[in-house]
Amino acid sequence: MPGVTDALDRLSAAADTGGAPAAADLEAVLSSADAELMDVVAAAARLRFRHFGNRVKLNYLVNLKSGLCPEDCNYCSQRLGSKAEVLKYTWLSPEEAAAQAAAGVAGGASRVCLVASGRGPSDMDVERVGKTIAAVKGASPGVEVCACLGLLGEGQAARLTELGADAYNHNLNTSEDAYAEVCSTHAFADRVDTVRAAREAGMSPCSGLIAGMGESDADLVSVALGLRELGSDSIPVNFLLPFDGTPLEGTWELDPRRCLRILAMVRLANPAAEVRLAAGREVHLRHMQGLALQIVNSIFLGDYLTSEGQAAKEDLELIADAGMVPLGLEEAPEAVREAVRVRRRGAGTDRAPNA
Ligand code: SF4
Repeated sequence: MPGVTDALDRLSAAADTGGAPAAADLEAVLSSADAELMDVVAAAARLRFRHFGNRVKLNYLVNLKSGLCPEDCNYCSQRLGSKAEVLKYTWLSPEEAAAQAAAGVAGGASRVCLVASGRGPSDMDVERVGKTIAAVKGASPGVEVCACLGLLGEGQAARLTELGADAYNHNLNTSEDAYAEVCSTHAFADRVDTVRAAREAGMSPCSGLIAGMGESDADLVSVALGLRELGSDSIPVNFLLPFDGTPLEGTWELDPRRCLRILAMVRLANPAAEVRLAAGREVHLRHMQGLALQIVNSIFLGDYLTSEGQAAKEDLELIADAGMVPLGLEEAPEAVREAVRVRRRGAGTDRAPNA
């Protein structure tokens, strides 16, 4: 395994020339020592700033149809047989989806992701989503819409493009080798086919991964390079939320430094792609979320599909504190100032100390 300093030099040189990053160098990033963490973050940050400056793209999720999926993806709280007590409902009306989306846009989101659980849409579902896209764009002019409806059948990608979808999300999630471990009802190749179909139909391909499911470093590098090969414009990096009632319940493998290394590895493998910090960031990165913004150029604002995120206000504070600006806004949200509070507890008082 090469040392991380040399590996970072080679990865940076590859990014400068558009050359392919070496898998061994990306694995060295994942196995780097804590004392090298800032070197890793700095190398990724240079690429983030080169390609995106200080802009942060905010995406907002609207779960159009939640739970009761017939597929068995192990990591998913909506899977077949899931006992997770998540919301379960069928299709939101276009008007309701547009109202939900407008709340995210008002909070600064420039892309709305319309997501539905299930193996894939019927042709009727595609038409229904078309009406929702029209309602979202009517209520929030200028917003980008990404559809995420599962595996696409013949002609459905082209139809979604006609109906106004700007992008299509379908995550590869993990490496081809590890895929059978996380799902038995569809294959890695099915996912690749859908991302390709979306791109060929003119939608921007959005495809990412989930870390923390028991995969190896080689699996993470493999999926990051697979996304590069596939030409994913936008790469959501999710950190497993091991819902009780799912097969991965109790799987806690991640810590904030590991998450930073994973994000940096994905950035170094895909220098110019939009890398989005996605589900699990509050739980796994915790106080390191601000540092992660030096690597990624996009986050989800507010809540996720079946779990709650931190308050949108805290997200905007995170961005302001990093000196960054949400895409589409002229300037950073105002920095937060808290009044100085005089101590009234601990030494010299009869109240317990703050410890
Ligand atoms: S297909 Fe989608 S909604 Fe269904 S179990 Fe898999 S990830 Fe969850």
